[in-house]
Amino acid sequence: MLIATKTVPPERIRVAIEHGCFLRAENRVQEVIGKADALRDLTSEQHFIGHLQTNKINHLLRHVTTIQSVDSFRLAEAINKRTEAPIDVFLQVNTSREESKFGVSPEKAIALLNQMRELENLRVKGLMTIGKLFATGETARRCFELLARIQEMAQDAGHEEVRELSMGMTPDFVEAIAEGATIVRIGTAIFGKRPTPEGFFWREMDRP
Ligand SMILES: *Cc1c(COP(=O)(O)O)cnc(C)c1O
Repeated sequence: MLIATKTVPPERIRVAIEHGCFLRAENRVQEVIGKADALRDLTSEQHFIGHLQTNKINHLLRHVTTIQSVDSFRLAEAINKRTEAPIDVFLQVNTSREESKFGVSPEKAIALLNQMRELENLRVKGLMTIGKLFATGETARRCFELLARIQEMAQDAGHEEVRELSMGMTPDFVEAIAEGATIVRIGTAIFGKRPTPEGFFWREMDRP
């Protein structure tokens, strides 16, 4: 499990880490940077799960071990060029096909993995999806099933490195686990409801 810590102040993230949550993730570069000093002394792994603009890559790289939201060759290339050491990445797939969401389309995922082979500083670890927002049950499950199928296809195409499936959030983690999630990303169920309207994160992740 990964704790999704957007809007959560460092003091509360600290408590979660001290109680055994090792993996944590932010959606916005500013939040990663803003909380870095306060949490530096703790042993934990910081991932990035939000939409990433190429002009912010340099600021992010020093603080994260993994970027889960790579969804274009352009972004992959930019990370590859800027990172000083090899970095772990996940390919984000838009399994719900909602326009409000980022992610490569399911049909283009394998082609993108093939292209990314030439980028020697990126270590592809797995796939990530948000799935259909606020969905549960069958609807949620279909998105996760699709991600698992893309993983299978990727492995059949020689991408054995695609081992992780990062899928499932507070409303739908049960379905995600049933479909083979290796990482669920949980915010609300641990920290409570966020003060910021959800639209802020889901439709306007680009906002500076
Ligand atoms: C906020 C967020 C989560 C966690 O969502 P909750 O419903 O609060 O558990 C997971 N993944 C991403 C990409 C997020 O932005």
